[in-house]
Amino acid sequence: MAKNRVTSHLMCEDCKEKNYTQVVNKKRSIGSLKMKKYCSRCRKHQPHKETK
Ligand SMILES: [Zn+2]
Repeated sequence: MAKNRVTSHLMCEDCKEKNYTQVVNKKRSIGSLKMKKYCSRCRKHQPHKETK
C-alpha cells in the first residue's frame, strides 16, 4: 500500500550532492520545493532543490 508514496531528494544547488531523502505523497508535485539546508560537502548552509 505504498503506491502513493515516492522518495524525493534534496540536492545542493552548488555541488549537486543529494544530502537529504524524504518520502512524499505522490499527489504533491516534486520539484517545487526549495530549502536552505546544511551541506556536508560544502560545509555550510546551501539552498537545496527538491529532485527525484
Ligand atoms: Zn553542497
